[in-house]
Amino acid sequence: MKVLVINCGSSSLKYQVLDMDGEILMAKGLVERIGIDGSVITHTKLTGGEDEKWKNEVPMPTHKEAIQQVLDAIIDPEHGVITSMDEIGAVGHRVVHAGEKYAGSVLITEDVINALEECIDLAPLHNPPNILGVKACQDLMPNTPMVGVFDTAFHQSMPPESYIYAIPYEFYEKYRIRRYGFHGTSHKYVSLRAAEMLGIPVTQLKLITCHLGNGASVTAIKNGKVVDTSMGFTPLEGLVMGTRSGDIDPAILQFIEEKEGITSERVNQILNKESGVYGISGISSDFRDLGTAAEEGNERAILALKIFAHKVRAYIGAYIAEMNGVDAIVFTAGVGENDIGMRDIICDNLDFLGIHLDLIKNRVRGKETVISAEDSKVKILLIPTNEELMIARDTAYIVENGVDMV
Ligand code: ADP
Repeated sequence: MKVLVINCGSSSLKYQVLDMDGEILMAKGLVERIGIDGSVITHTKLTGGEDEKWKNEVPMPTHKEAIQQVLDAIIDPEHGVITSMDEIGAVGHRVVHAGEKYAGSVLITEDVINALEECIDLAPLHNPPNILGVKACQDLMPNTPMVGVFDTAFHQSMPPESYIYAIPYEFYEKYRIRRYGFHGTSHKYVSLRAAEMLGIPVTQLKLITCHLGNGASVTAIKNGKVVDTSMGFTPLEGLVMGTRSGDIDPAILQFIEEKEGITSERVNQILNKESGVYGISGISSDFRDLGTAAEEGNERAILALKIFAHKVRAYIGAYIAEMNGVDAIVFTAGVGENDIGMRDIICDNLDFLGIHLDLIKNRVRGKETVISAEDSKVKILLIPTNEELMIARDTAYIVENGVDMV
């Protein structure tokens, strides 16, 4: 079966076409500036040899035109990869928030759309464009089954002691304020790959997966179930990130509001967009820029990188305690896959916990490999994430078997 994967944001959209017989990526692309002047689609056809890139600037006032452009591109006689839309057996949609409703991927029905609309309060920036993407696809491909794959779903296996906040319980009951966790599709994908690499069923493993990108989260996974994860009610909680603060004393919010004479919305914006390693360094949210600045002796860049690593280490330690051990630690996403120096710092001096990085094996980027030393009790793995493949797998499974994964 061929699956179209759609990840629809407010003004951009990423897509992939995968042939699930052999899990082959056939095409991928990006639509940018939806609803803004200068809408553009960049489509890449993967041929096995040199990739063929094609760009088309054409007005796309809504997500419907954007999806139409995607469909036109994938069926185009020259740049396309299929000859008829009937070849697409299903569409898999990345959806950020499914609240407590879905603990796995589901076939999208009217009820599912309603449930996702009920979660808009919880993800006001992400769920509306995700839902728009689903509806636009339904309009243009009315006979093709659609599957929803949720960022929160994998974390639904967390126990209440991990997800309930110590605030009046009525806020959980009235408003569903609890920890949800995000990046679930990535954490699930790398945990399954880790099990394959180790040759041990995931149901017999204790794993800590570190998704370190612009957004970053760490997850503790025991016997295939999430025990704890660092993001919470929103993706703002947990690790220090590119521009997000991660955990801070909540009293700081009101303090800044009063001192600066600004609104709570503005404080929220500062914590999401102007904090993290960017806020500390005052230079950049990009770890490559910070690495360069640190090498040049920039003190605040050095401090930002140290604080980032400190926080990851603190979570790793906490999760080892929560699970009474760990078999493997996995690094993934932009920083986790590529930042050799950051992995060095995170894993440094953890001998007491049986964690021993091989500094030579660690000199690698973006490749599935074991980077721990032979004598390390805990394996350290580098696994490039592949959320699109995970979405396509769930989508094909649900459509082929006629069952949801919840
Ligand atoms: P997101 O999907 O959250 O935008 P990614 O997983 O793509 O994030 O990660 C993006 C980040 O990865 C960049 O901000 C950059 O800091 C980091 N990154 C990418 N390549 C490298 C590299 N070679 N060395 C260090 N950091 C890198």
